[in-house]
Amino acid sequence: MREQLVKSSAQIYDGTDQCTSITIHETANESVGADAQAHANLRSNGNVHQVSWHITVDDTEAIRSYPDTAQWWHAGTREGAESSIAVEICVNSDGNYDKAFALAAEVVAGLRAKHGIPRSKVYDHAHWTGRNCPSVMRATGRWQEFLNLTEGANPTIGTMVSPFEGRLTANHQDRGGYKGHKGLDIAPPKPGQTRMPVYAAFAGTWKKIVRNVKAGNRASTLAPARTGGGGLIANPDGEGNGYNHVDILDAWKVGDKAAVGDLIGYNDLSGNQTGAHVHFEMWKDWEDHNSDYDPRDAFDAHGVRPGSAPKGIITPVASKPKPKPKPSTSKPKPASSVNSRADNTAIQTALT
Ligand SMILES: [Zn+2]
Ligand SMILES: [Zn+2]
Repeated sequence: MREQLVKSSAQIYDGTDQCTSITIHETANESVGADAQAHANLRSNGNVHQVSWHITVDDTEAIRSYPDTAQWWHAGTREGAESSIAVEICVNSDGNYDKAFALAAEVVAGLRAKHGIPRSKVYDHAHWTGRNCPSVMRATGRWQEFLNLTEGANPTIGTMVSPFEGRLTANHQDRGGYKGHKGLDIAPPKPGQTRMPVYAAFAGTWKKIVRNVKAGNRASTLAPARTGGGGLIANPDGEGNGYNHVDILDAWKVGDKAAVGDLIGYNDLSGNQTGAHVHFEMWKDWEDHNSDYDPRDAFDAHGVRPGSAPKGIITPVASKPKPKPKPSTSKPKPASSVNSRADNTAIQTALT
């Protein structure tokens, strides 16, 4: 990241940006030459009022105009201005949008690592006001892909396995599943099989474990209307993964860290189900059971087929006796720092 910092007293509210979220914009300027340098120069040349942003990214570089803690009006709401770091992606017609998209994700990965910002706090501009920005990203349906890229180089995030081997039998409601279905169902290879291994789809920390739920018990466990034994794991980025109809190994306790692919338990008939399956949910915010989204988005983004045999990471496990998992104590490594393109100090021609 190159710095071309601008001195200005035009900040708003006389406060400090809390840096608790990141907001993604696009410049909506397709003019030839409307790249990061041109936009940074606009700031430097005094075209500064209370509307501004922190970092501009094009297909070759990222330029910072203000420290993250400077407050600017960019999101259309006071909360956005006070809490969010603004990143603008250039859409100039002589630039390569895919490269700018990837570089912006790299920048956001760095900001997330620096400020400890979870995935659930990376917003598009539309989040604040409904404005159609970033419009190219929205029009092409690439928001989840962008978020996935912001997981950066942290090896403990961004790696996924299917939590269960078998057949996808029910989708999330967003993709044609029945109304109110908050996850997806994977049935064992042979109908009715139980005590088949269930694995951690992502790395994370155990937040909730529910055991000893009887078959047919409709009472909710992990969240309203979700039945059966199982557990909830929070990923390092703040998302949550819910596993239902699973007999969690006794060795796991809340607070333990699971690595991706760790054996977490075996499928069972606990709770309300008509045929053996694992019900798997993904929440954008592990503390909010209503933030569920279609896990297929994550499967697709990681190139993993629901129900595929977890490979590479896992030693296949016989169903009995229960092996003891060794809860990993290793801390997630911080994401690698943002790319440094600090060598280019030449000021190029400004926007014409
Ligand atoms: Zn915007
Ligand atoms: Zn289900």
